[in-house]
Amino acid sequence: MVVLSTVVHTAYFFVGKGTRATRLLFLSAMPSTLDPELRRALAARIRYFNEMGIYDFYRRPVSERAGEGASMIVVAAPEGIVSEHTHESGEEMSPRKTAAIAAPVVDQNTIALKPEQSVSDPVKALKIIREDLGDCKRCVLHKQGRKQIVFGVGDPTADLMFVGEGPGADEDEKGEPFVGRAGQLLNNMIKAMGIERAQVYIANIVKCRPPANRQPERDECDTCSPFLMRQIAVVKPKVVVALGATAAKTLLAMNSSMIQLRGRFYDFRPTGVRSNDPDWDGCKLAVTYHPAFLLRDPRQKGEAWKDLQMVMKELGLKAPAKESGAQS
Ligand code: URA
Repeated sequence: MVVLSTVVHTAYFFVGKGTRATRLLFLSAMPSTLDPELRRALAARIRYFNEMGIYDFYRRPVSERAGEGASMIVVAAPEGIVSEHTHESGEEMSPRKTAAIAAPVVDQNTIALKPEQSVSDPVKALKIIREDLGDCKRCVLHKQGRKQIVFGVGDPTADLMFVGEGPGADEDEKGEPFVGRAGQLLNNMIKAMGIERAQVYIANIVKCRPPANRQPERDECDTCSPFLMRQIAVVKPKVVVALGATAAKTLLAMNSSMIQLRGRFYDFRPTGVRSNDPDWDGCKLAVTYHPAFLLRDPRQKGEAWKDLQMVMKELGLKAPAKESGAQS
């Protein structure tokens, strides 16, 4: 059995075979998000062990050296351990190369305030983020046929925010998320919840269309998602709904399957952003199937509807009398 010390000197892990029970216990721990830089450093360390043929990582209590105030959170789950329900669902993104790791909760006070956070008007604050994004060339998607950046749309003070994967052809054309067939279904889902599209905020993990609608790569998600995190911190929703595996895995920094991710709320705080609002310290996050997946497999609409009902209950929403759910 090997014990490895993380690059952040905060936690120690057992590395070895472990039992199935240990593995499941580990996965049920509370997930959270992790600063991208820290995640990259941890991923590099995990890769190092992977290259030596070590894949299973187990957590043991934080050592005395963990540093004051550090608490443990699960940030990613091991691909080999959790991928029992994988690509056959069509809802999985390229697996993380990381294994299960634990890390300290980032001290919010050490995160610098972003420029938009001195602005109280959310419309202006979102504009600042959009300007910061500029004609973004931070990842390869800018030279792979995107027509425009698809920033986000909706009520900048919405209680409910939907996050998808990335723009498709229609969105790339129009500059607005979820305007194609998947968008029509999302609109119906929103209506079935008793609200209108204009009452929610909608954005994606990546803001540029991946060529041929391929899944965005991990580094593209990591490069783009900090802007989304800032948008979330401005909108300050009560609930974020992650649509599909790419959104769920990126926002939660977890590598679990959709089956494992759905059916519960997570406590979510946007990574790398400090809230300037003492009354908003993050929100709840729920995971459901991506509308494009539901178009391919309509039998799963009932499951998605269960997820949305959980969200409706949280927000005190009632389905309109004549609607029978997100069934169209
Ligand atoms: N799929 C997404 O994930 N986002 C969109 O905006 C459209 C389709």
